[in-house]
Amino acid sequence: MAKKYKSKWYAGGLAFECQQSGNCCSGEPGHVWVTKKEIATIAKYLGIEGDWLPRKYLRRVGFRYSLTEYANGDCVFLGRSEEGCASCQIHEVKPTQCRTWPFWGSNLKSSDHWNEAAKGCPGMNRGPLHTLVQIDEIRLMKAPS
Ligand code: SF4
Repeated sequence: MAKKYKSKWYAGGLAFECQQSGNCCSGEPGHVWVTKKEIATIAKYLGIEGDWLPRKYLRRVGFRYSLTEYANGDCVFLGRSEEGCASCQIHEVKPTQCRTWPFWGSNLKSSDHWNEAAKGCPGMNRGPLHTLVQIDEIRLMKAPS
């Protein structure tokens, strides 16, 4: 086990603290994947009857579901204060994809991948250090690969 940890380039941990830029919730068209269980949880959180979200919040993509985006790329649940601070309107129940940012497989492939992603996320390489164990625990939540 120790050998496996040692071999990871981020064995010393990685710093991250959300700066509320909203960059990970906006920008180029993408997907915010949600499972049926997450959809039910979000619906309940919003006080919507039943265990499903209406069309304005949810779209079907093939066999999967993604939260809706506005034309400008903002997630339907992205809110911004007058000062420009971004916040998630469903923070307490946001999908796993959002909870696990920026510790995604695609960002953890190498330090180059991590630093490339950090160009678009001011919270990466800043703030408290997340240890290898903490990162792996987040990864177990099934971050996108
Ligand atoms: S659900 Fe919340 S955290 Fe996830 S993309 Fe939308 S606004 Fe961002």
